[in-house]
Amino acid sequence: MVGCRIDRLRVHDRRLRWPVDPGMEAAVAGQPIRRAGRRAKYLLLHTDAGTLILHLGMSGSLRVLPASTPRIAHDHVDIELDSGQTLRFNDPRRFGSLFFTADDPASHPLLKSLAPEPLEPDFDGAYLWKITRRRSVAIKQLIMNSRLVVGVGNIYASEALFRARIRPRRRARSLKLQECVRLARAIKTTLSLAVKVGGTTLRDYVGADGNPGYFRQKLYVYERAGKPCRVCRHPVRQFTQGQRSTYWCAHCQQ
Ligand SMILES: [Zn+2]
Repeated sequence: MVGCRIDRLRVHDRRLRWPVDPGMEAAVAGQPIRRAGRRAKYLLLHTDAGTLILHLGMSGSLRVLPASTPRIAHDHVDIELDSGQTLRFNDPRRFGSLFFTADDPASHPLLKSLAPEPLEPDFDGAYLWKITRRRSVAIKQLIMNSRLVVGVGNIYASEALFRARIRPRRRARSLKLQECVRLARAIKTTLSLAVKVGGTTLRDYVGADGNPGYFRQKLYVYERAGKPCRVCRHPVRQFTQGQRSTYWCAHCQQ
């Protein structure tokens, strides 16, 4: 998409999580897309006039299609490009959202208070060390707290703790500096690998090409309860933590 121009933005249904601003079509028409980015779960399309901020919500997906492709149910937005293709947003539950800002998107109310990105250099062992010192919450819940670090969801929290060989129930403040370093690295490795293979499809997630993500085949512990650990062959264990399923290996993780 980068380098393409937005011929036309078509909003077929404005009733997303927040109503789509009726001024948006005029604001982005004719704008070239200079850069695509992301902050937490917000996808950013940067143009000369400003930035489109898109969130997939619970059930949203984006597909790149020939613009002539007939719409199906729940196709709410088309970003039609001069390449003849359209970026089409489908969202059955309509928890997704679309905003446009002419200002620096980092100062947008939805983005300005977000915690560090795990793949950026400011997220490292020293940062984890600092935020864990006074917190007795379980380490898995801490790394999933989006006020402290964004983008580590339930799957990747279990997987990163396995790679770092740290038990998910450990109190955050009990982690040693070396463990914080290991965990920060494990989070980066886990997320980078998952991105590389297109994410993790468990139920309905699809990528922009309509294909599933293939990280599921690479999971060490997530949704593998009772199956042999891929490292030590002991059965993977499961328990519930903060209403979410946690998977871990009692032999590999300390
Ligand atoms: Zn194991």
